[in-house]
Parts: sequence; structure tokens; C-alpha cells
Amino acid sequence: MTYPKITINKNKLKENVEILVDICKRDGISPGGVTKVFSGNSELVNILIEGGIEFLADSRIENLEEFKDIPLAKLMLRLPMLSEVEKIVEYADMSLNSELLTIKKLSEVALEKEKVHKIILMIDLGDLREGIFEESEVYELIKDIIKLKGIKLIGLGTNLTCHGGVIPTHHNLKRLSEIKEKIEEKFKLNIEILSGGNSSSLHLLEKNDMPAQINQLRLGESLILGRETAYGNRIKGTHSDVFQLITELIEIREKPSIPIGEIGLDAFGRKPTFIDKGKRKRGICAIGKQDIDIEDLIAVDKNINIIGQSSDHLIVDLTDSKDEYKLGDKVKFDLNYGGILKLMTSKYVCKEIK
Ligand SMILES: *Cc1c(COP(=O)(O)O)cnc(C)c1O
Repeated sequence: MTYPKITINKNKLKENVEILVDICKRDGISPGGVTKVFSGNSELVNILIEGGIEFLADSRIENLEEFKDIPLAKLMLRLPMLSEVEKIVEYADMSLNSELLTIKKLSEVALEKEKVHKIILMIDLGDLREGIFEESEVYELIKDIIKLKGIKLIGLGTNLTCHGGVIPTHHNLKRLSEIKEKIEEKFKLNIEILSGGNSSSLHLLEKNDMPAQINQLRLGESLILGRETAYGNRIKGTHSDVFQLITELIEIREKPSIPIGEIGLDAFGRKPTFIDKGKRKRGICAIGKQDIDIEDLIAVDKNINIIGQSSDHLIVDLTDSKDEYKLGDKVKFDLNYGGILKLMTSKYVCKEIK
């Protein structure tokens, strides 16, 4: 099977990685490569490593398992499920955590395996996804954590702009270093790592406004699409088209732009609406909602309009294109991060690294 196909340009990916690694290292930040969209592909991970990424991070343990022979530290990003703690200790050197019960279980399993599992404790600075919200609870939790023999608390971390859309600022990230200092004083501990978030924290480096003690970032989207994610700005010199989708046309016909007959519900139970543009040259690309959402697609030919989608069909308007599309021709799309994630996960989409 060759189409639909997602193409991955190795050179462009490597250039993105090198630029971001440089931006981080100039400011004393250790850059981690988030591999969510690689779906466990080691060839792509090797490009991150060539580009200078210092550790790997993923939210699915199955992906880290695929990377078990790659000699780089691995961080589990999503808080571990109690039911997967065995695998976490086996395939991740460190994990992000906020729940004592999980941390206790990680310690037990680590001791059984004669390992020490490292953890970064997550602090919720207001985005309201994972992490400890009340500062007093942080200190309570650490009292228990330091008793656990299979665990080493190596850092504090936070994650912003994921659920609440809260933008990382000098002010909110500085709370991490304040909490770190209190912990070091109270418990006579050395907290090595302050993990200051994801691609949405990059704008602080550009403005020279990152609190000095932040020394790690976990980068996904910025490596893949070359943009910071607080404001969506492009990062100078990077590529946004490392990943592209190529689909094949299976029908091209002139049809009206408004369906004929009484309008009920579409394939997904919604009542569709249409604008009358007269007869249009319509194409059907062989890909569907099983693989991608149309919100995640941008046609490379700016004169192609995406009209709609069902499970296995993508309908496009080719009327305004300067090209004479024929049956069997290919239609190319740029992608957003969610789209890349879905396409790389779909077994119906061919992956071509070039
Ligand atoms: C996905 C994820 C990241 C990477 O986020 P980007 O915005 O893609 O850089 C970092 N940290 C955690 C906890 C994540 O889940």
C-alpha cells in the first residue's frame, strides 16, 4: 500500500532540531525531544539524537519500549497508570509524577528490579491539567517520597498551555524555583532539574526572560513544526513542512454545491449546511476521518478548498486550482500537530522517510 502517504523529510527535521537545541543550550537549558508523533519509529529518533537532543520523552510507554536499545535517557511524560508501573520502571529511566500511591508502587517495583527510578514532581501552576496545585501539599508529599528507597526525586516540573491555555511567564515559572529552594532548605535535598514546560516556554528564551534556574524543556511541536506554541510564532530558520500528507484522487466530477433532496444528518450525526456556488469540479481523495480530521489539513495548493469528509472519503473543490487534476493524481496537504499524530498512528497511512 502506498497511498495515502505521510512523507517525513529527514534533513528538514534535523535542521529544526539543530536550531532548537542551539536556542536551548545558549541559555543553559537541556533540550528533551518529545517523540509522541513518531509512533515508536527509531529512525526518526536517531535524527533527534544527531541534532543534539539530550533525552527522549514520550507519553506512551509502548513507544519508549520501542526505543529500549537507544542509549539515551528516557522520560515518561504522562503520569503512569498504576497498572503499567512495571513497564514504566523497565523502559523509562524517569517519569513525571504527582500521586503518592503511584510513586510508592514505582519504588516497590524498582526495588524488585534492583533499580532506582527517577521522578520529576509535577507542580500545577494554573493550567489545571496534571500536577500538585496547593504548595503545602508538595512539602507533605516530599516527606513521604524521601523515605522511598527505590525512588530518587531529581526535579520539579510543570506543564502549561495544554488544558487551560495558560502562557508560561517569568512570574509563574519563577514559582518553580521558589518551591525548589524551599524544598532544598527544608529537606537538605539537591533538586537538579527544573523542567520548565514544553514548546510554549520557548518565547521566554527569545525575550531573555526565562527564570535562571529553569534548566530543562520538553520539546515536541517546535521540533516538528518549527513554531513556539504560546503565540504560534515561527522560529527563525525552521521548516513547517517536515511532515506532509499525499492523497490520491479516486473521483473527479462536476456537481452542484448544494445536495439535492431533504437534508437530514451527515455521516457523523450533524446537520450539514451548504453555500450555493453553482456547479463545481469536485474531487474525492482516498482518506477519511478514520485517519485525519479536516481541521488538521491545509492544502498545499492554496486554490483547493476542503469541502467535507466522511469515514473514508475527503471531498475537495478543485474548480479554482490552476492545475488540471486528473483521476489518480495526488493532492498534497500540510498538517498541524494533531493531524501528524493521528496520521502517524493510522495503520492505513504509509510512512515514507526521505
Ligand atoms: C506533549 C508534552 C510535551 C511536549 O509539548 P509540545 O507542546 O509538543 O512541545 C511536554 N510535556 C508534557 C508533559 C507533554 O505531555
